[in-house]
Formats: sequence, C-alpha cells, structure tokens
Amino acid sequence: MRIILMGPPGSGKGTQADLIEQKYAFPKISTGDLLRQAVQNGTSLGKEAEVRMNRGELVSDDTVVQMVAERTAKDDCKQGYILDGFPRNLNQARMLEKLKNSHPEVILDIQLSEEILIQRLSSRRICSRCGKIFNLSLNPAVQMDICDLCKGDLVQRRDDRPKVIKERLRIYHSETKPLIEYYQRRSVYHRIDGERPIQTVFRDIRSVIDSETDKYKQTGAIQ
Ligand code: AMP
Repeated sequence: MRIILMGPPGSGKGTQADLIEQKYAFPKISTGDLLRQAVQNGTSLGKEAEVRMNRGELVSDDTVVQMVAERTAKDDCKQGYILDGFPRNLNQARMLEKLKNSHPEVILDIQLSEEILIQRLSSRRICSRCGKIFNLSLNPAVQMDICDLCKGDLVQRRDDRPKVIKERLRIYHSETKPLIEYYQRRSVYHRIDGERPIQTVFRDIRSVIDSETDKYKQTGAIQ
C-alpha cells in the first residue's frame, strides 16, 4: 500500500509517519529528510537544495521526483511505503502517477489551525544525528536538548524560524493546498483532525489504514 501523508508544515506528518512505519513496517520516505541528508553530505544536489530550503521555498520538481523514484524502486518498498511531504504540488502529483510501482493508495490529510501550526513549528526540535522529531511542549525529550533514542543533540531546523515559517505557509497555501481538491475526488482521501494528541491522531490513522486494507483485500488488490 502507498500511504500519502498530506498537511501543512507542522501538522505532524513526520511524527505520524514514524508511528505508521513502526506499526505497519512500511518504510517512511520523507523528501524533507532525504534533502536534509543530501545537504549534510554536501552533495551537489544538497548544495542546490540548501539555498531554497533555507528560504522556505520548494526544491525543483525534477529533483524530488527523481529522489522518490530511486527510493521507491528499492526492495524494501515492494509491499508499500509512506510518502511524507511528497507530492507538494499538482505537477509532482501527476509525476507520481507515472512511477511504475502502482500500489493501492490511501491519502491522509492532517489539518489544523494556522495558529497551532506556528506554535508547533516554533517549538519543534529534531535530532541532529537520527532525525527523530521532538516538541518542547507536546513531546519533549526526557533530557533537555538530548535525543532519547541516540543521545544526539537536538536542534531547531533553520526553516523553523519565524520568517521562514511564514514563507513555508504561504507556499503551502498557493502550491500544496490545490492538491486537496485533486485528491478529494477519490474515495481513498481522508481528512484527519490534527489538533488532538499524537496518539489520538494515530488511532484515527490506524483505523483508516485498517479499513482501506480490508477493502483492498476484498477486491483482491492486496493479499
Ligand atoms: P519538510 O521536512 O517536509 O518540511 O521539508 C523541508 C523543505 O524541504 C521544504 O520546505 C522544501 O524546501 C523541501 N522539500 C521537501 N519536500 C519537498 C517536495 N516534495 N518538493 C519540493 N521541495 C520539498
């Protein structure tokens, strides 16, 4: 199954993708994580992406689609995968349709108010070593500024600073939000209320994935 996690920046897509990965054993493919990795490794792709990411702009469609195509072609994606942060505009959605691996799909759109998004983004911290996501008020690390999992340092993403948050939300409204209409016509589109606690949101997500899985089993699309 291909699970697409949609929602504005700060809606908790990454956190929910981690939980889905643990529960269902589908790999999480976060284009943001892949790009941050490329920046850290200093590759030419990373250097090109860094400038745009620091401004809160989108990286080119060809670059991200190529990354997703390569990642989803790997063996661990044969049973399915979770897309976190992709597609981000209509062009990417259309390019995704053309990728060879045509798994049955579930689209989860996590929505919440802009006021809460800004609060969440400003208090988000990520592990500089393993990428685990924390939040100073909602999901703090046991030891301040140290990752619970790998003891790496927790840092604030450069694009989680106020000026860049504003630009990312502007781009979400102009480029990503039109995707809702594109996907809403499909029965596999589900809106999720993201203002509730992490585990409550995850409970809803689980029930959607389980019921979609049952439907696909009945049609023989998956075993
Ligand atoms: P995220 O971690 O999903 O919030 O993404 C962080 C940044 O990476 C975004 O603000 C973009 O600059 C870039 N990025 C991530 N995913 C995409 C995508 N699908 N298309 C274009 N740029 C992306």
